[in-house]
Formats: sequence, structure tokens, C-alpha cells
Amino acid sequence: MEEALFPDSKASALTRRLRALRGVLFDKDGTLFDFHASWRPVMERAARIAAGGQPDLAAALLRAGGYDSSSKTFQADSIIAAGHTGQLAEIWHSLGAVMDRDTLQRRLDTLFSEEGPRDAVPVTDLPCLFTRLAERGLALGIATNDGQEAAQATVRRFGLEEMLCFVAGYDSGHGSKPEPGMALAFCQATGLSPHQVAMIGDNDHDMTSARVANLGLCIGVLSGTGDRSTLQDKADVVLEDIAGLLNLLETAHV
Ligand SMILES: [Mg+2]
Repeated sequence: MEEALFPDSKASALTRRLRALRGVLFDKDGTLFDFHASWRPVMERAARIAAGGQPDLAAALLRAGGYDSSSKTFQADSIIAAGHTGQLAEIWHSLGAVMDRDTLQRRLDTLFSEEGPRDAVPVTDLPCLFTRLAERGLALGIATNDGQEAAQATVRRFGLEEMLCFVAGYDSGHGSKPEPGMALAFCQATGLSPHQVAMIGDNDHDMTSARVANLGLCIGVLSGTGDRSTLQDKADVVLEDIAGLLNLLETAHV
């Protein structure tokens, strides 16, 4: 089981922290949804818009954002994988995008809120997983560096509204990851102490945000752009994907 991954002393500490949990805060892309499958088509459209239809410029913009065209994947902790729309607009504007930075950010946010939810590919049966977690008394939320409107639209598309007590994006007023604001806002919204909350995500910024907020547990997942080498330094535990969360809780009899 998961505890076999750790030395005995670390396993018992992990068990104690799992038993203290009363809330789980999920990253969205790469954690609830398959990052590469969900974002490749949307990002290709975004780059074409930013490049005014010029194929070479669009390819350069994607590359600068962290897209590897040979493997058709996004690099861990890259701007596209981990940043927010404002950061992407900034770098694309500096590389020659055909509109000013603020206009580009608005166009990207609109595109992502309209098309991101449509193309999102869940990692697992999310209503089933969330129901089973809620049955364990856990409050559930989403903290994403995508925009709030896109996050809310995705939640509605997959019928998750009733299962989540908190959904925040980079523009919700709590700051963006790796800052701790969204994690602390989840604690405030639920009335939980940080040590009662776990953050689960696929990038370093998720783990850093959780660490800075002093959350009880940092859980990395390999379903997104990160891998063990990019997650293991800050994560307390690394799972293949969020479906492993139930097994992890069961090891601690949560
Ligand atoms: Mg992510």
C-alpha cells in the first residue's frame, strides 16, 4: 500500500496527518483533468489567435509556453502548465503577438472559459470520487491558476456544483499559486485549520502553495505535467492520479 513507499517513521506521521484531514483542495488541470488531452487543442487555437494566423509564430509561442511539439506534451512547471493567463499574455506579447497584452489576456480568458470546459477530459469519474470523499466527511474545493469563469463552467459541465464548497481561479481575488492565498481562502470558507486540509496537484506551484499555507498534507499526482523528480521534494506523497486518494485514505482508516 502507499505507506510501503515510506520509512516506518514517515509512514506513521503520514497516517496521523491523513486522520486529521477534513478538507481536500484540488488543483484542476493535470489533477482532475488530463492536462495534455484537455489543453493541446485549446492552446493550439490560442496560439493561432495570438499569432494572427502565422504558423511559425504560433509554433514559437507554444514552444515558449512550454509545449514540446515532438512529444506533443507540455513541460512541467512551464507557463502553460502552471502559470495563469496574465503571465501567458505577457510572454506571448513580448514575443510578437499581434495584439496588446491586455487585449490578448482578455481574448485568452474568453477562449479558455468557452472552450476549456468543452475539451476537458476527466482523469476519473469525478462525481463518484467526490461523493465517496464527501461520505468521509471531507469538504472539497478547487484552486486553479485558470480563470474563475472557466473553472466554474467546467464544474457545471461535469455536474460537480453540489459537491464543491469552494472554486477559485487566479482572478478570484486570492492571488495565484504558488502564493498561499487560495489555500488560505479555502480554510476560511470551510472553517478548517490549515493542518486539516490537503492540497493535491501536479505541479511544483501546488506543493509550494500548500507548504507556504502550512496545509496538513501535500499530495502530488502524476496525471499532469509533473513527474516524481519535479514533485517528490515538496510532496508528502505522490500518487499515480486522484483515483489513488481513496486507497491512501483507507490506509489510515479515514
Ligand atoms: Mg495543474
